[in-house]
Amino acid sequence: MSNNQAADFSNIEYVFLDRDGVLNRNPCDGRFVTCWKEFQGLPGVEEAIAVLNRSRRKVIVVTNQRAVALGLLSPEELDQLHDRLRERLAAKGAHLDAIYVCPHDVGECNCRKPLTGLFEQAFIDFPGSQPSNSVMIGDSLRDIEAGTRLGMRTVLITGFLDAGTPDAHRAARLAQARVLSLLDFVQRYLGSEGQSFEHGGA
Ligand SMILES: [Mg+2]
Ligand SMILES: [Zn+2]
Repeated sequence: MSNNQAADFSNIEYVFLDRDGVLNRNPCDGRFVTCWKEFQGLPGVEEAIAVLNRSRRKVIVVTNQRAVALGLLSPEELDQLHDRLRERLAAKGAHLDAIYVCPHDVGECNCRKPLTGLFEQAFIDFPGSQPSNSVMIGDSLRDIEAGTRLGMRTVLITGFLDAGTPDAHRAARLAQARVLSLLDFVQRYLGSEGQSFEHGGA
C-alpha cells in the first residue's frame, strides 16, 4: 500500500483510458463488444469524465479492438459504436478528446498494448503531452505495461479484475495506484472537483 499512498497525480494533464473494463463492463473471457447493446457502461464513468473535462485535463481512450481483425465488426461499425458512446457522454456534459484504436491481431503491429504505438501517436497529436504529465488507467496488465514502458504513471482498476491471476498480481505491483473504478480514482486522487492541474508549475 505504501506506493499507493505516495502516488501524486496532481500535475497530470493527459488522462489515457483503456475502454473495456474502464468505461464499460468487460465482456466475458474470449468475447468481444461487437455492437452497442453489448456495450454496458460502468457506474460513475460519465461523472468522472465530466470532472476531468472541467479540470481542463485531456481525456484520451486507447483501446485494443482485435474484434476488428477477427471480422466480428467493421471499422465503420466500431466508429458508430464510439459515436453512441460520445452521445451518451455528451448527455451528461462529458466528452472524450480522442479515441485511438488498435484494430489489429496479436503480433501484427506496433500499436496493440502492451506496445506503445497508440500513445506515441497521441503524444504527436497533442502538443505538450508527454509521459511525465500523463497517466494510463486500465484494468489489465497490458495497459499497465504499456504505460510503464513509456515512463507514464499508471493506475489499475481492480473492481472487475480476477485478483487471483498472476497477471493481476503483476499489474497490481507495477501500477502506482489501485482503484475500484474511474470515479474512485478521480475522487481519491484529484478531489471531488478534479483540482485543476497547475499550469507552468515546477
Ligand atoms: Mg480492459
Ligand atoms: Zn495495432
